[in-house]
Amino acid sequence: MFTYLDPTVRKRLEEHGKLFQIDREGVQVPADHVPASGTGISVLGPIPLPLKLCDTQIAVDWYACVRRTELGKIEEIADELRAQHGQASFATLASSMAVNSVLLLGDPACWKNPLVRVHSSCMTGDVFGSQRCECGPQLHMALERIQEDEQGGMVIYMSGHEGRGIGLWAKAATYLLQDAGENTYEANRSLGLPDDSRDFSDAGSLLKFFLKDSPFRLLTNNPKKVNDLEHMGLQGITRVKHVTGVGDNNRRYLAAKQDWGHELTPEDIGTD
Ligand SMILES: [Zn+2]
Repeated sequence: MFTYLDPTVRKRLEEHGKLFQIDREGVQVPADHVPASGTGISVLGPIPLPLKLCDTQIAVDWYACVRRTELGKIEEIADELRAQHGQASFATLASSMAVNSVLLLGDPACWKNPLVRVHSSCMTGDVFGSQRCECGPQLHMALERIQEDEQGGMVIYMSGHEGRGIGLWAKAATYLLQDAGENTYEANRSLGLPDDSRDFSDAGSLLKFFLKDSPFRLLTNNPKKVNDLEHMGLQGITRVKHVTGVGDNNRRYLAAKQDWGHELTPEDIGTD
C-alpha cells in the first residue's frame, strides 16, 4: 500500500534492477514473492544524488527504502497495534510508513570495513539548522568523513525517528517542557513516553544487504545503538566517536545524553 507505484512503471523498474525487495536478513527476494506482514523492504535505487554541503560537493547513490506493506496486511498491523499500547503503536506505525534512505559512497564490492552512520531524522536540526541538538552537524560531518575515507561507506537516514521515536509533534512539546526546566529524557517521561523508542530493525536489514558480512565502523557516541544492531545479528562493529556541533544552545542537552549513557567526555561538551 505504502509502496504503490503504477504497475507498468513498477515492472519496468524491476526489469532494470532499480526496484527490488529484500527480506529481514538483507537477502534479495524475487519481485513476486510476498513476505510476511511488514517484513520485506522495497528498495528503489541507485539514484545519483549530487550533494552540496556548504563548500563540499559529495556525489552519493541514494536508495529509497520502505517496508513492503500489502493492503491485505493492514488488518494484521491494526491487530498488532491494538495489542500494544500508546507509544509502541506509534513506533510500529512510524516504522511501517517511513521511507528511509541509504546514501552510499564508494563501491560496496571493495569494502572491507567501511564507515557507517545510522542517523535518526531530526527536522529541526537536519533541515532548519537548529542548534538545540547537534543532529545537523553530525549528519554533515558523517557524509564528509565517509567521503574522505579510503573505503567510503554509507549513511542510513531513519525518517521515522524524530525525537528518539516519539514523533515531531511530541518533540515540539518536549522542547517547551525543557524550557521549563526538564531535561530531554525527563520531558519524554512527563508526556508518558519512553526515553528512546527508536526501531532500528530496518537499518539492520539494510546493513546486512549492503555490507553482506563485512565488519564496519559505526559513527556514534551511543553504545546502545551498537548493542541494538548486534542483537540483530550484525557483527564486527567498531564504534567511532562522532562529536561535532557542540555549543551553548545544546550543552545541557548533551550533558543529559552523557548521563544517560552516551560516551561523551566533559571535554567533548565543554563542561570541564
Ligand atoms: Zn536533533
